[in-house]
Amino acid sequence: MNRLLFSTFIVLPLIVACSSEREERTSERRSEGREYAESHAVDQAHASGHGEVTWDYDGEDGPDYWGELKEEFTACKTGQSQSPIDIQIHRAVKEKLPAIEFHYQEAPLSILNNGHTIQVNYPAGSSIKVGDASYELVQFHFHTPSEHTINGKPFPMVAHLVHKDAAGDLGVIGVMMKEGGKNPIIDTLWKVVPKKAGEKVERTDITIDATALLPEDRSYFAYSGSLTTPPCSESVSWMVLKTPVEVSGDQVAVLASLVGNNARPVQALNGRTVTHH
Ligand SMILES: [Zn+2]
Repeated sequence: MNRLLFSTFIVLPLIVACSSEREERTSERRSEGREYAESHAVDQAHASGHGEVTWDYDGEDGPDYWGELKEEFTACKTGQSQSPIDIQIHRAVKEKLPAIEFHYQEAPLSILNNGHTIQVNYPAGSSIKVGDASYELVQFHFHTPSEHTINGKPFPMVAHLVHKDAAGDLGVIGVMMKEGGKNPIIDTLWKVVPKKAGEKVERTDITIDATALLPEDRSYFAYSGSLTTPPCSESVSWMVLKTPVEVSGDQVAVLASLVGNNARPVQALNGRTVTHH
């Protein structure tokens, strides 16, 4: 069967219909040997756009077709300010950007496998300040390889720290991860990471601090882009830190084994300016 047609015309109406039909759909997907996030994962992942069940990173539900899978995903196809992009250092415009002030707190661990990424949800109370803008940390998650590339080159892995301001606009910080020594916070996370899509682990006995993901030098590239997952909503302030942190090859392999390659290809710049300082 043409799976794209099946998804669009038959599956989508079923999703809103009732839970037994949802299960039917789930078993249809599982019969193809793929695991998908269950509905309870969707809310948790909403702020980043991760967690919707109707898209994937390859095949007929892959990035080339996201804009056609669902009306809400149209921006994936027609948007002019999409992310990720290739950041070309020599083309970035030097500007006096405000330093990012980090005010992250320790938090009990809440970690989710939503089928598209491994995501750590963060409770209220951790924030960043960038000039006049103030954003709360909502969650962070990982991609392999990195989604943004620098001078055409991806890093083996990236962390995206997703923040929301009072108006609901997103500020996302990308921390590139290069192959090197074992990363301590990833080590903590991978020890308890849920193996199956839709699973979540809450551990009040384990505390984490997102500060541990950051390099010492927090200078960054800035530009206006989008969510890198459906619905690909725009007006996301992207801040990609220039300095990578280290992650071991084994740690990257764990992420790949859990969610596969989960990087959207780079998108056209369409006249946007990347600034840096
Ligand atoms: Zn991301």
